[in-house]
Amino acid sequence: MPARRSPRQPTPWRAGAVPEPAAPVLPRRVATLSVHTSPLEQPGAGDAGGMNVYVVEVSRRLADRGIAVDVFTRATSSEQPPVVEMSPGVTVRHVSAGPFEGLGKQELPAQMCAFTAAVLREEAQHEPGHFDVVHSHYWLSGQVGWLARDRWGVPLVHSAHTLAKVKNAALAEGDEPEPRTRVIGEEQVVAEADRLVANTAEEARQLVDFYDADPRRTLVVPPGVDLDCFRPGDRQAARARVGVAPDAVVLLFVGRIQPLKAPEMLLHAAARMLATDPALRDRLEVLVVGAPSGSGLAEPQRLQELAVSLGVADVVRFVPPQAPAQLADHYRAADVAVVPSHNESFGLVALEAQACGTPVVAAAVGGLPTAVDDGVSGLLVTGRDPEGYAAAIRRVLARRELLAAGARRHAAAFSWDRTTDSLVDAYAAAMSEMGRRRVRPAHRAAEAVRLLTGGNSVGGR
Ligand code: UDP
Repeated sequence: MPARRSPRQPTPWRAGAVPEPAAPVLPRRVATLSVHTSPLEQPGAGDAGGMNVYVVEVSRRLADRGIAVDVFTRATSSEQPPVVEMSPGVTVRHVSAGPFEGLGKQELPAQMCAFTAAVLREEAQHEPGHFDVVHSHYWLSGQVGWLARDRWGVPLVHSAHTLAKVKNAALAEGDEPEPRTRVIGEEQVVAEADRLVANTAEEARQLVDFYDADPRRTLVVPPGVDLDCFRPGDRQAARARVGVAPDAVVLLFVGRIQPLKAPEMLLHAAARMLATDPALRDRLEVLVVGAPSGSGLAEPQRLQELAVSLGVADVVRFVPPQAPAQLADHYRAADVAVVPSHNESFGLVALEAQACGTPVVAAAVGGLPTAVDDGVSGLLVTGRDPEGYAAAIRRVLARRELLAAGARRHAAAFSWDRTTDSLVDAYAAAMSEMGRRRVRPAHRAAEAVRLLTGGNSVGGR
């Protein structure tokens, strides 16, 4: 695929074209932008999901490597302190931008100026060069990072997490298309970022094909899984803790209840399985773990009505979002985890289930073919026929032990440490390419004012 570039993009680099220093300069402090959702939130509800887990896991590990992280996120409650130390070396800064509550993600673009101003003011309180890199997550943060990058003279590394054009191409029934403003905003960030981090080769291809990204600035960094938390364990003990009978056949869905994730597919598949094997009713348990997100507020009610109309309400249990240790028990208790999404940029749930030794039946879309090794750690389903899911679940149940072993092996190939190492490499390469400016324009201007006013600096605020 030939590289197509917009004239706005910086001069592209070629690997090897720019001499790298013998020992790369590593960042000391990273500004991580997570505008619309906080790493302190419990994932599995609202706007909190895989991206929050990503930011938490990577930030902790950057700090372990001596790289301090400031995570900027929008304050959503007056109760939140402005600054929270999430873990040693990781500071969460709650930024006031718009009313605390009642503001949906779609309304946030109007708050980006307020958010950006607060980020710039925080940095201006420090010596020049306080941050070495800006890493933005999701396009809204990318817009903020773009300006911060220009102002501070440091590279912008961007992770999209989801892409509007990709999402709109695989819309679930009843799901609203992503607005044009987002598409335009994403295109701008893709054009401006010094590095684009994709979860999979498929996402990298989408960035290039749909967004004209420069392939030479686009890199694949697979996310990881916490193998200390998500590990195999005593299945019966986990079942007892989760409240599932020892001989039950357990099908599990984990994630935000929203049209994109299509939890209803699991209910349809369960109904097909009961139709062909009525005796299964005494043993079947379908667990749906998670709460609605912004686009799916009516979904739990709709799902419950669907369960009734399909005649499976007696075997379905809805479970509120779980903290990691309890979630691991749900994975261990399950025979199969089902991820029937219309689209997933990766699908951490699939990886976590496998790490707990539970095979996965997943849609063959987005990052899921990377997250699941088809035929080895689970099965991928093409198309959206419930019978296809029912058949795949039956096949997994028939050879569960073999697939469970494959699942554990496959998940063990992913790790947040490797993710973090790759990101540090990307930061270092972007820093080296950009070359740090000793004095940034904003501080040069402040210095000029200081000299003209006889030494009273007006600062950058
Ligand atoms: N999650 C959780 N508790 C829950 C449900 C989900 O902690 O009750 C976490 C889960 O462990 C996973 C993340 O939410 O890490 C969901 O990530 P995924 O990539 O599967 O989906 P996304 O939310 O990013 O669309």
